[in-house]
Amino acid sequence: MNFPVTKTTSPKAKPDPNNLKFGTVFTDHMFIMEYAEGKGWHDGRIVPYGPLQMDPATVVFHYAQEMFEGLKAYKTKEGKVQLFRPEMNAKRTNKTNERLCIPTIDEGVFVDAVCQIVKTDADWIPEKEGTSLYIRPFIIADEPFIGVRPSKHYKFMIILSPVGPYYAGGLAPTKIFVEDKYVRAALGGTGEAKCGGNYAAGLKAQEEAAARGYEQILWLDGMERKYVEEIGTSNAFFIIDDEVITPPLEGTILPGITRASVIEILKDKGHKVSEKKLTIDEVTAAHKKGTFREMFAAGTAAVISPVGELCYKEEKMVINGGGIGPVARYVYDTIYGIQTGTVEDKKGWITEVK
Ligand SMILES: *Cc1c(COP(=O)(O)O)cnc(C)c1O
Repeated sequence: MNFPVTKTTSPKAKPDPNNLKFGTVFTDHMFIMEYAEGKGWHDGRIVPYGPLQMDPATVVFHYAQEMFEGLKAYKTKEGKVQLFRPEMNAKRTNKTNERLCIPTIDEGVFVDAVCQIVKTDADWIPEKEGTSLYIRPFIIADEPFIGVRPSKHYKFMIILSPVGPYYAGGLAPTKIFVEDKYVRAALGGTGEAKCGGNYAAGLKAQEEAAARGYEQILWLDGMERKYVEEIGTSNAFFIIDDEVITPPLEGTILPGITRASVIEILKDKGHKVSEKKLTIDEVTAAHKKGTFREMFAAGTAAVISPVGELCYKEEKMVINGGGIGPVARYVYDTIYGIQTGTVEDKKGWITEVK
């Protein structure tokens, strides 16, 4: 699939690669494709980056019928442009779409659109260690209509942002607050869909945790506040004794592509990896016994983010002396190495943008 490109006549200045924040600067172009009932997805094109004009009655403003994805493009030392498992983002897009009554998109078209917009703005990919081009595909319901039913018109868009490390401290360990009041997801809800509504509902908890000095939240299950689920915008891994544990995908947890990759990499290395329910009480008990060795978050934005402190009901657990554990270090080096071309991609996880 080849989309028409309208080039900008006023390219912007590139940001200082030493001072990149997360998600504040956007490139010169964006991808747009429309959906209309009866016509399907059509008119995919690349145009100069800029604002949209929309009717105030547009569905997405009122009922949040929208979804998003997130992946990154890296430039290798040899100057190749690489994407990490973009076909998984295409698959997940359609799972999210089905949950939110958004029409599905051909997975090949999704990946082609990502490749072509990245190629158009490839000179925006920063090359400094720890930096990348963040890719944000998203779909909004854009029919002007304020009754409640699925929209008959949508926009699929992709925007790009050169980014530095997600956390100001890079791979430095984070402090996480265990949330036992607010809930992110309940069985039957939208927890496994990547949609903005989940995030709007989580802001309050994040604000309160931040006010106490914590960078992120560990969510517990919505029924009993008993089982650990996810860390903010990423999946959670715990190492207790010699077992790597991550909660199972049973409907409330976002099926992370980083999560799936971590599981595979650690199994290959011979680790015992279990996808199983884990209670917060088992975690605190392991900490008392001295067998709670490591904890880290896994997600595209930060790749791997070690947890140095976990606070549950005023009890502060320092993990691995507040440092980066060997397992977190190994998975980070492996995944980041494959993404940036310094570790051989034996699994066919890389798509080169040509
Ligand atoms: C996107 C996301 C993740 C991580 O998924 P990746 O595919 O690894 O980036 C985890 N949890 C939530 C809630 C997310 O939105």
